[in-house]
Amino acid sequence: MSNLKVAIQKSGRLSEDSLKLFKECGIKVNNGARKLKASASNFPIEFLFLRDDDIPGYVEDGIADIGIVGENVQQEAQKNTRVLKKLGFSKCRLSLAIPRSEEYPGIEYFNGKSIATSYPYILKSYLKEKKVNAEIHEISGSVEIAPGIGLAEGICDIVSSGSTLLSNGLVEVEEVMRSEAVLIGGDKLDDGQKKLLDQLVFRMDAVLVGKNNKYVLLNAPDESLDKIIDLLPGMRSPTVLPLAEKGWHSIHSVINEDDFWGSIEKLRAAGAEGILVVPIEKMIQ
Ligand code: ATP
Ligand code: ZN
Repeated sequence: MSNLKVAIQKSGRLSEDSLKLFKECGIKVNNGARKLKASASNFPIEFLFLRDDDIPGYVEDGIADIGIVGENVQQEAQKNTRVLKKLGFSKCRLSLAIPRSEEYPGIEYFNGKSIATSYPYILKSYLKEKKVNAEIHEISGSVEIAPGIGLAEGICDIVSSGSTLLSNGLVEVEEVMRSEAVLIGGDKLDDGQKKLLDQLVFRMDAVLVGKNNKYVLLNAPDESLDKIIDLLPGMRSPTVLPLAEKGWHSIHSVINEDDFWGSIEKLRAAGAEGILVVPIEKMIQ
């Protein structure tokens, strides 16, 4: 019997959402007191709880078959792993920042300067591409305090809201990369494991596509029906049902989250009333 070993972060920003995703895929994790390992009761999968930085290496070695890490960690590690799927959570960016008091003319600012970071590989590649010659100071944590204590003149670190930068008197000046949680895989899977991975990815797709879409129900007067149907593509086409009141129909469809409010405005302008929006748990196209 094949078994898929998946490495997820033991404790940190990715842990909760990673476990939640498996749960949404219908996989029940038996992790009593969050040990090093856990199994699932209804899917042949074993969970290994590790530090995120170690996950790409374990996946490369085949100790884990797949794992969930930030793209930033996957790229920095330079291990033989592939991104199988973007997972849509833990979105952040890796950026260059400098003291707010400094004037910033452009990327050439960093020529001859020192930059503290926990991402030396990614930063080095970025600077090379931008033809900037700077000195990289690798440090493992609290990068944002480096300029304040005179360790470096700038930093390259993870930013989400920018509040950590602000409280350290820094300002973001360049975005080096965007990141989100990704499912990564190695190349040591046997046929049985590949089959399990396909099943898992199929379930993840259904969950992720569901999250990106909303089920919409609305009422439309008959004279607006065609116009509203044109606005609503739906999975194949919208469902149209007559209301008990003559001259009205109820229309059901699916709207993509990306331009949700734009679509709602157009629907209202076209005469839609009583619009209900319902989350979709899973969506299989
Ligand atoms: P570990 O102890 O496992 O090494 P860590 O301290 O390196 O943990 P976390 O801070 O838990 O890592 O972050 C894990 C990942 O979450 C990062 O690699 C990044 O992809 C993402 N991340 C980091 N900071 C943020 C943030 N502020 N907002 C959203 N995502 C973030
Ligand atoms: Zn880490």
